[in-house]
Amino acid sequence: MSGFVAEARIELDDPEALIGLVCEHLREHGAEITRRDNTYVVAMETSTSSFWQEERSLVVRAEAADLQSLYFIKMGIASHLIEFAGDETLEIAWTGDGTELAAPPNFDVLEVVAVRDVTPHMRRITLAGSNLARFDTLQALHLRVIIQHPDAVAPQWPGVGSNGLVRWPDGRHRPQLRKYTVRSLDPAASTMDIDFVLHADAGPGSAWAARARVGEHVGVVGPGGGGLKPADWYLFAGDETALPAIGRMLEALPETARGVALIEVADAAEEQELRMPAGVSVRWLHRDGSAAGTTTLLQDAVREVAFPQDDSKVYAWAACEFEAFRAIRTYLRKDKGLGKAEQLVVSYWRKGKSEDEAGGDHEHD
Ligand SMILES: Cc1cc2nc3c(=O)[nH]c(=O)nc-3n(C[C@H](O)[C@H](O)[C@H](O)COP(=O)(O)OP(=O)(O)OC[C@H]3O[C@@H](n4cnc5c(N)ncnc54)[C@H](O)[C@@H]3O)c2cc1C
Repeated sequence: MSGFVAEARIELDDPEALIGLVCEHLREHGAEITRRDNTYVVAMETSTSSFWQEERSLVVRAEAADLQSLYFIKMGIASHLIEFAGDETLEIAWTGDGTELAAPPNFDVLEVVAVRDVTPHMRRITLAGSNLARFDTLQALHLRVIIQHPDAVAPQWPGVGSNGLVRWPDGRHRPQLRKYTVRSLDPAASTMDIDFVLHADAGPGSAWAARARVGEHVGVVGPGGGGLKPADWYLFAGDETALPAIGRMLEALPETARGVALIEVADAAEEQELRMPAGVSVRWLHRDGSAAGTTTLLQDAVREVAFPQDDSKVYAWAACEFEAFRAIRTYLRKDKGLGKAEQLVVSYWRKGKSEDEAGGDHEHD
């Protein structure tokens, strides 16, 4: 690997032990790790990192073909080292390429250019910016919207610390980040639509969407996440938070695709017009008075779906509240025997917990 290189030297009690922990974790997540003398080399698609011990220091070298990949590998290494160091405080300071980076390369400030309600509880906000081409992919559908702290006198935008991690200028008035899906992109107009659920118990994301006005600015970071895989037959299942992702994926399916989309919404007024191939059908599930996240509608409907009996290649995609996510994931993996490449089931929110509190509950693999 050539191109851009950065290095950090971190003093530690037991460098070899920390290298072992991090490499073991990366191996469990599919990284290929080789050992040459006392150096561990972790090869990824667009980057390589090497770890070794020199006296009481852990030395790490990151190499990548471009600056953006180098930024992500430096950030990933720093966060893993900090996580696995436990109570030991690490002083990480990268040298080499990328130290001049003032802001994360995947960060943009966009302008709100339109606000309209698609249905009573789904607000579509159109954002404009000059650097949106990277969102034009079905492989990474979501982004993080930066919701400013109500007491911040000026907007807080992310910077990059010398340790490679995102740094906020004012810790007290740090913004909150919320995940949303790019519903559609118009490269010619340099705009994107995001559909926000205006939900009960509104948190910062839903409250921002409810008050957003044309002309204001909002920060976003992304894109990220997994996307659509090629298949003959698809199962989509989700509540209204997943409706933007399902809608975008349905529109992108080839004309020959077959399958079923199960979409849970509050009631008939929340149904939307969706475009999809003739071989795919949509079934709307109405809570009709029950609160979001309190029914088993979605998981019950998933269990009723008849999967193809022939050798069609199947792909199942589901995203919803945590409890339904767990039930659907177990059903698809254990009962239907779908392997990792055949399904993606994600928790998009957890009842009674904000996104910050749900944190790791947003299981995703
Ligand atoms: C990859 C990904 C993509 C997503 N895409 C979208 C999208 O395109 N549009 C969208 O609207 N959401 C989307 N979500 C879900 C969204 O991020 C969560 O609903 C998030 O909690 C909203 O943030 P908030 O600040 O409004 O509420 P939080 O501060 O996170 O939560 C406040 C309270 O509201 C509750 N709550 C959160 N969401 C809901 C809900 N939908 N209904 C009822 N109660 C709720 C929580 O349980 C909590 O009690 C996505 C999530 C993920 C992980």
